[in-house]
Amino acid sequence: MADDILTNRIGLIGDPVEHSLSPSFQQPAFDALGLSIRYELWQASLDELPARLDDIRTGRALGANVTVPHKEAAFALMDSVSDAARRAGAVNTVSLQDGRLVGDNTDVHGFIVPLRERGFDFVASRAVILGAGGAARGIAVALLDAGIAGLAIVNRTRQRAEDISAALSDPRITVGELDALSTHASGANLLINATALGWDDDAFPFISDTFARLTPGATVYDLTYRDTPFLSAARSAGLTAIDGLAMLVHQGAKSFEIWTGQPAPVELMWRSAVAARAERSG
Ligand code: NAP
Repeated sequence: MADDILTNRIGLIGDPVEHSLSPSFQQPAFDALGLSIRYELWQASLDELPARLDDIRTGRALGANVTVPHKEAAFALMDSVSDAARRAGAVNTVSLQDGRLVGDNTDVHGFIVPLRERGFDFVASRAVILGAGGAARGIAVALLDAGIAGLAIVNRTRQRAEDISAALSDPRITVGELDALSTHASGANLLINATALGWDDDAFPFISDTFARLTPGATVYDLTYRDTPFLSAARSAGLTAIDGLAMLVHQGAKSFEIWTGQPAPVELMWRSAVAARAERSG
């Protein structure tokens, strides 16, 4: 890779971005490999998104991550997309290849790693995704690829869940509205919070009756990368709880490899993210 590319910037595009832990583990990874890359936070409204992406297209930046709420909008602005991004209809990683903006979706990879590490049996399981935003799209692709037996997508705005189902066109998918969540959860082995609600402790109205309907020992996964009331309640109910930190690190590691072409120092990234989270909550 040429030196002029290495002296470059990569940013997280979103609204908001200041809460993000991504710089806390991406920057040490670039530094450890001796790459002159700065990882920055690029707050951007939807109107500002095209200009941010143009910075990459014109070589003023090396690449980007994309976060809430721009993953679907970014997808529409790419010159080409990977297979994972095309199926998810959402982009969380942008790179420049041969002068073209290429979009990828590394959430698909990051989401599945902690489940595989725990030996989760996808083929014998039914899953419920709460939410139908950009993250839910990647998760749905990951679960279908892993062989999940059934997948319910439940969302406040039913049409968004319908849109994912139509785009993926898979007979294992059903969709529903929030007030039917506990019905969809009956007999499910995996419940995922992929809404933006995890960040607000008081906002989660769907816990107790839903957990009681899951199979004993089911897994509850919250994409929020902190210990949410949703996860505490899951543990109290004897369920397995997974927060979003491992997903964050593994999606970031995959993004790192796309930008740099080098293996990511995943252990270092994990330790850095754990330390940054502890510092923030302490
Ligand atoms: P998004 O595209 O903005 O979608 C937000 C989702 O939250 C939608 O399904 C939305 O429902 C739902 N929602 C928002 N407010 C709600 C409310 N008051 N009641 C019910 N549902 C509500 O965001 P995203 O990109 O999918 O991200 C979702 C969450 O996942 C965020 O918390 C993000 O930080 C997290 N995430 C974590 C990782 C990780 O690596 N750990 C990766 C990706 C995302 P409507 O469709 O009805 O608006």
